[in-house]
Amino acid sequence: MRLVLVGPPGAGKGTQAEFIAAHLAVPKISTGDIFRANVASGTPLGQQAKRYMDAGQLVPDEVTIDMVRDRLAEADAADGFLLDGFPRTVPQATALDKLLADLGTGLDVVLELVVEDDEVIRRLSGRRTCRGCGKVWHVEFDPPNVEELCDRCGGELFQRDDDKPDTIAERLRVYGRDTAPLNQYYGAQGKLVGIDATGPVEDVTERAIDGLRSYGG
Ligand code: ADP
Ligand code: AMP
Repeated sequence: MRLVLVGPPGAGKGTQAEFIAAHLAVPKISTGDIFRANVASGTPLGQQAKRYMDAGQLVPDEVTIDMVRDRLAEADAADGFLLDGFPRTVPQATALDKLLADLGTGLDVVLELVVEDDEVIRRLSGRRTCRGCGKVWHVEFDPPNVEELCDRCGGELFQRDDDKPDTIAERLRVYGRDTAPLNQYYGAQGKLVGIDATGPVEDVTERAIDGLRSYGG
């Protein structure tokens, strides 16, 4: 299955992507994770991306599309994938459609996680990420057993620079301007499935998996 997860920053895409990708037995491809890994290891791509990420802006389309093209060419993505955080603009969506059409395939479904802005702000403000394995926690909604340490790998938790209040506001503005139009784009293709992403994580996963059933998931 070829699937895209959309929704505002903090909607729970990364959290749900883990479970949905495992359920579908496809790789989870998160452009935010790939950019952060490049920033951490100081590659030219990371250096280029960092200034946009720190400002709450989107990395330019050409850079992001090239990166995704390379990632989708890897063997594990040949029979399916779950994209988390890409596309984020209409030009990225058209590039993805073209890329897949050239391979003789296309997206099966686009799952939109629907959450109100005030809940998104609570989720982003309390998000903590593990430096070791990348698992995402929340200080209030999903706290680890030992404060600031990851239950899964024992790694140290940190707050992402772009989860500070000023950057959150900018990211939500950019989402409304550049990313929300994807809902019309994919709606017009008849591929958009909206899921209520409020409530416990397991309930959202269940709704998502239910929503995928009629698309072969
Ligand atoms: P995104 O990938 O869309 O930016 P994340 O998956 O990183 O979002 O989730 C943002 C924050 O919200 C994280 O701290 C996560 O633990 C928390 N979170 C995710 N799903 C839920 C939920 N259903 N209820 C409460 N908090 C959640
Ligand atoms: P995320 O982890 O999905 O919240 O992404 C973190 C940051 O990485 C974003 O705020 C952008 O700066 C950058 N980014 C991730 N995915 C994309 C994308 N598809 N297009 C442009 N920038 C992106």
